[in-house]
Amino acid sequence: MKSWTFAAAGIALLFASCAGPGRTGGLQHDQWGHRPGPQGFHTVIIDAGHGGKDPGAISRSTGDQEKDLALDTAKRLQRQLSGKVRVVMMRKGDSFIELDDRASRASGKDGTVLISIHYNSSSSGIRGPETYYWRVDSHGLATRVQRAMESVAPSESGNRGKVRRRLRLTRNPDLPCILAELGYLSHPAEARLCADPAYRERMASARARAILDQQANGDASTGSLPKPIYAPPSRPTDPPGS
Ligand SMILES: [Zn+2]
Repeated sequence: MKSWTFAAAGIALLFASCAGPGRTGGLQHDQWGHRPGPQGFHTVIIDAGHGGKDPGAISRSTGDQEKDLALDTAKRLQRQLSGKVRVVMMRKGDSFIELDDRASRASGKDGTVLISIHYNSSSSGIRGPETYYWRVDSHGLATRVQRAMESVAPSESGNRGKVRRRLRLTRNPDLPCILAELGYLSHPAEARLCADPAYRERMASARARAILDQQANGDASTGSLPKPIYAPPSRPTDPPGS
């Protein structure tokens, strides 16, 4: 099944490349994403980052592992969205899924958006929530989710804003997709904040409202769309931050 999914994704990619940018054949999913953001979508895929053998970032001050906080936060978001939109969980337990498998599992689905949940880490002492996006059709959703997280994070977090970055989970899926980093586990005060279940619940609640706002209103009030970028899919061998 996995190899079939890979083959299908490869064929879809090849076809989209041959067809050229901007030709979507009327499908709602689209390889490039050079279009306005979605409105009226019926499904949200929640992707809790890392898992299993891959712990992600580990806080030196709290000992929390990113994979556990991400899954907890994903489940809180699932509960907040329950009954309002269909929710699909990329992982439900402590299991490892390759990034390329996550991208191909999310692709090919109409009326669907993908939200990846992570916690950040850096050696430079920075903190604050941050949202990555790459596709034009993901700009509005990234703006809404980042605003939501900024409304919950304390002012001293110094919110880091939304960042256009070509990652395997922002460039490669063929549907609107964003990757939300809720905070820096490398920052002691922020790690303690992220360790608080009440804080994670407020974050989940705010992000659920942002997603439902996008569903109801599309890109309205999220600013002008960014310019299309014609860049190849993100590969594991790409240098970081490229
Ligand atoms: Zn991560």
